[in-house]
Amino acid sequence: MVELSAMDYKPRPIDGDFLSRPNDYPVTGTHEGHEVRAEGTQRNDSEGKPYPTKFGIHGTYVAVDWESCIADGQCSDVCPVNVFGWFLRGDGQGGSGNDVKIEQGSEQWNTYRTDKIDPIREADCIFCMACETVCPTVAIKITPK
Ligand code: SF4
Repeated sequence: MVELSAMDYKPRPIDGDFLSRPNDYPVTGTHEGHEVRAEGTQRNDSEGKPYPTKFGIHGTYVAVDWESCIADGQCSDVCPVNVFGWFLRGDGQGGSGNDVKIEQGSEQWNTYRTDKIDPIREADCIFCMACETVCPTVAIKITPK
């Protein structure tokens, strides 16, 4: 888990309307079987300052704003069907405390800031909403199909 106070930006909640705003959140690619939106787009944090990364939103009905994600991991702890895995860890595992630790000022810090939780098994979601509720930065938006 990464302390919010250790970050050099202030995450803002995921835009809950992102699916109805394709001009702001165009599909820019796919990753691990889910769509990615707005990758490469400069967005601002909750203080109006530019985010240091431009990863965009991963997933559609299990959507994680990677600019908002600070690798808390509770989303994965509470998910009953194991939808999430850590991106940098890369072995399909999630969970708090299992993220790749990144030293401030390192090359990984400059590129990622923190590990990112990835909805790699999005199709398994049963829409219990637990992850959306527990996320401390409100980085997750669940849209039941
Ligand atoms: S809504 Fe429930 S089942 Fe779906 S990803 Fe979140 S915790 Fe898992």
